[in-house]
Amino acid sequence: MTEPKRVKLEEYLDDYAYTSESHIRKDGDTIWVPDVYCHNGHSLMVHGVLFDGKPAIHLRGEIGGAGGPRKDFYLSPIIGDDRKKGPELPDGTKVHMLCPICKEPLRELIPCTCRVGAHRYAIYLTPDPNELGAIGLCEVYGCPQSFVSDDGELVFERVVDED
Ligand SMILES: [Zn+2]
Ligand SMILES: [Zn+2]
Repeated sequence: MTEPKRVKLEEYLDDYAYTSESHIRKDGDTIWVPDVYCHNGHSLMVHGVLFDGKPAIHLRGEIGGAGGPRKDFYLSPIIGDDRKKGPELPDGTKVHMLCPICKEPLRELIPCTCRVGAHRYAIYLTPDPNELGAIGLCEVYGCPQSFVSDDGELVFERVVDED
């Protein structure tokens, strides 16, 4: 038995301006991203899979690392929500993430602290990656650590509470 991981959501910008146009939206206690893109500007949102009525983020993953069998994954667009649809894998499996449209690997951002050699990969809040709005997703299946930045500033980070 493994202990369930304790995960906390840090909010760094108290004054993020949520509007009906902002890249991150808020509705009551629910905070979500209405649209995300690969580095080539392809929208990754799909309406065929919904989480609480909101379109899912569609990614393709190569199971076990680059060159592995390709499977589709659908992630919740809600910040702090670990739900996803796709193949069930053992925690710790590496998933090399691709855009399902251009099939290019997502861009590598920064290392993840969950294990040596793990990295976080970028999907973007706008079609232009230079606008510096991004979500950093860890390539390790089951790792809940991620972050969201907008306009170059860190807005949210999910971290495992180690103690
Ligand atoms: Zn693409
Ligand atoms: Zn990780």
